[in-house]
Amino acid sequence: MNCRDCHRFDPEKETCKDGKLNPLTYEQASETLMIYGIRAICIFNDYRESLIERRTVAMKEFKRQSE
Ligand code: SF4
Repeated sequence: MNCRDCHRFDPEKETCKDGKLNPLTYEQASETLMIYGIRAICIFNDYRESLIERRTVAMKEFKRQSE
């Protein structure tokens, strides 16, 4: 979602009222995840769900290899 179309966007401050980040590309979203964690990424971000899924798969694979 574009922040300017969102009800949580503050047009005066030109930022998210919730302090969330909304990366524009998958690469940016991936870097944001590595630096700030998943909670920093907006729930309306186009890449958030794929990042969560990728992380879940990686954790399952790690657990499987640890057994
Ligand atoms: S970061 Fe998310 S919640 Fe915040 S203004 Fe943008 S779309 Fe809305």
